Amino acid sequence: MQETATYLKFWAGLTSIGGTVISVEHGEHRLVFDFGFSYNPNNIFGDKQVRLRPAHLVHDYLLLDMIPAVPGVYRQRDLGDGASLLSAEESPWQTMVLISHLHLDHMGAMGLVSPSVPVFLTAESLGLYSALCAIGEGVDGERDYSACRFDAPLAHGPFVITPLRVDHDVPGACSFHIRTPHGNLLYTGDFRLYGTTPPVAPQWLEAARTLGVDVLVSEGTTLRAPAEGESEWITGDGSLPDNLTTEDMLPGKLHALLSNTGLAVFNIYHRNLRRLGMMLDAGRDAGRTVVLERGTAYLARTLLAREDFAETSDICASLIKGNPTQYLVQNSYRNCLALLDFAGVGGSYIHSNGTPLGDFDPAYAKLRALVEKCGLEFHYVGATGHAIPQHLQYVADTVAPKVLVPLHSFWPQRLSAAVGQRVLPERGLVYRFKDGTLEALPQV
Ligand SMILES: [Zn+2]
Ligand SMILES: [Zn+2]
Repeated sequence: MQETATYLKFWAGLTSIGGTVISVEHGEHRLVFDFGFSYNPNNIFGDKQVRLRPAHLVHDYLLLDMIPAVPGVYRQRDLGDGASLLSAEESPWQTMVLISHLHLDHMGAMGLVSPSVPVFLTAESLGLYSALCAIGEGVDGERDYSACRFDAPLAHGPFVITPLRVDHDVPGACSFHIRTPHGNLLYTGDFRLYGTTPPVAPQWLEAARTLGVDVLVSEGTTLRAPAEGESEWITGDGSLPDNLTTEDMLPGKLHALLSNTGLAVFNIYHRNLRRLGMMLDAGRDAGRTVVLERGTAYLARTLLAREDFAETSDICASLIKGNPTQYLVQNSYRNCLALLDFAGVGGSYIHSNGTPLGDFDPAYAKLRALVEKCGLEFHYVGATGHAIPQHLQYVADTVAPKVLVPLHSFWPQRLSAAVGQRVLPERGLVYRFKDGTLEALPQV
């Protein structure tokens, strides 16, 4: 009798940032991870002028290439009449979906998975997700989610999945170690080496080494084309370069800025709870009242147990204008017209990794123009949630897998394998997992 093989398939998010979707299959058992949206600012929904069709989300998103065409994952009624994609009801697989963390490019489409297919997140992610739902930031689709725990193995048929904590700029982030009948795989999710004190990366790498890794599927967000005269190859180095701003440096930077400005306005991504706590601390230490938007205030109360702030609805702009050095005011991009209330007061706008994130987003230039129009000085006081290139290479060198698979990157080919094989996977190709290595199957 022929032995059952283990296959890997890469559905999306290979040479772009986000939307990484991979499946691992053995007989009737299948794992799918992650399940976010592919980000494309040129997408028809990108300008927010086009109305979504709530009853046709799966159908529309599939045809617009925003979610992966994985068979056996979506409900028949969501696919629509005459769909060629196999529905969850017709699926020959027992599928489990795994979500590494709560960034939209990793979880934005998890609500569209058929309720008959279990979706797992870490308990910490699930706690944050419940709070996000309470403030209207849940994803589309009604369904339940299941919790997995760091370092606690979870079985699905022949697979054993162990979520390992990673350092990323959202609570609950994990990588997944997956034992299969034909070798071990580590999917990093998104990570960095330096954001927490004490750092979690050494334990992460030690746990990975103990469990054993044959195939390392690594994110590569920060990889870019080599600059003029720069080598294509990156030297792995786990140390912190002098010019790197880490999370630990931000309180000092904020303190210096707040001691030397009039009004201070900040823009954060409120899923980054650590940063939210940091802003509350910075306001307290500078003797300023922190003023939070309603949803953020809910997160601060329920997840950080903080009460030392006011809400935007409690304090009118004229009060702030009358005494600008007494306040540290949150302003998210969607509320940016509130900045007009402070026009001419003078002061600082602190961009701390809120949206729009950077100039790749057309909204970023618009925000900069508005901040300037209001007479506020723009300051970036932030830190990336992603490993810098030398750290990505360091992790690849340290784990030293038989196969390195870089993805979730505009330039994945810059990551090299010190030993063994490197695979730059092709979308839609099937790879056979054999003796810990990957073999691309010819397309039929
Ligand atoms: Zn990502
Ligand atoms: Zn992320």
